[in-house]
Amino acid sequence: MYFSKQIIEWYFKNKRSLPWRNCSDTYKIWLSEIILQQTRVQQGLPYFNSFIQKYPTIELLAKASENEVLKLWQGLGYYSRARNMHATAKEITEKYNGVFPNDYKNILSLKGVGPYTAAAICSFAYNLPYAVVDGNVTRVLSRFFGIQTPLDSSEGKKEFEQLAQELLIEEKAAENNQAIMEFGALQCKPKSPNCKLCPLADSCFAFNNKIIAELPKKSKKLKIRKRYFEFFIINNKDKIFIQKRKQGIWKGLYQFPLIENTVKKSESTIEKSKEWKSLFAEPIKILKISPTFKHQLTHQTIFARFWHVKSKSETIAESKSINKKELKNYPIPRLLEKYLENIRII
Ligand code: SF4
Repeated sequence: MYFSKQIIEWYFKNKRSLPWRNCSDTYKIWLSEIILQQTRVQQGLPYFNSFIQKYPTIELLAKASENEVLKLWQGLGYYSRARNMHATAKEITEKYNGVFPNDYKNILSLKGVGPYTAAAICSFAYNLPYAVVDGNVTRVLSRFFGIQTPLDSSEGKKEFEQLAQELLIEEKAAENNQAIMEFGALQCKPKSPNCKLCPLADSCFAFNNKIIAELPKKSKKLKIRKRYFEFFIINNKDKIFIQKRKQGIWKGLYQFPLIENTVKKSESTIEKSKEWKSLFAEPIKILKISPTFKHQLTHQTIFARFWHVKSKSETIAESKSINKKELKNYPIPRLLEKYLENIRII
């Protein structure tokens, strides 16, 4: 238990003060864990504060509309987290009378809660002996113990889970789990870990064998898909057209009518396409076309252009018309938000 004791000692000297720490409010712990999936603390903290301020209880979150929840989540990405969180708030309100379940099995059955989040909630809120295994934990374990098994393989997942569970000081599950996660986030960072001032350096395999940059290992290379989005900002006097996305990463968010291609196409090819014809039943006037913006997501690169056009049409396929001033009330992807910050809708 040398490893866990050292990590806990380090934690008490170095931990950050965060609003969901040192509290047993399961709602705050769960909310923070959902926000921090795929998001760093610095970016997630203002979102956590906004949610707690607007929805101080899980029942109030459950009562909100999906649009309101997505609007508050806007810019954080991975919007399925927000939709699942909203569904779970409703389930807890209806099925559990607003009281968060307090056992692993029921917590794991909630939407958007996987083994890592269930272990985090069980240990942080109820001090139950479930070890957390996330990116920070696997990095620390693989470097300290010299584990070469790829962390994204099924053997790797099993190996890291078993080791984390064996190392857990059960009666201190909450602080032990928080300690190793914080150690990975602040000390044993992905790039430039602070090995010179590390209390584990003497026994650390990666440090002593100079293979820190090689660990942890991954087997799969991330495949990145390219997508070309042509958005149409269609003006009809004080009206503008928007569409609700029905699927994909932006499901539930709103966007301008869109033509999507898998390869880059010229403006004249786009204007002759069948998608153009089904979008614009009547002639339109093109006012301007923006430069191409690159938007990088984990698994895809989006290249987007914005066409500002004028139309006399009252309807556009699969779109609804709203007053331009109302646009700010709709949840939209960060890509659109960034573009709109710098332009005026003509
Ligand atoms: S010595 Fe360096 S690589 Fe090893 S645990 Fe400490 S920070 Fe991580």
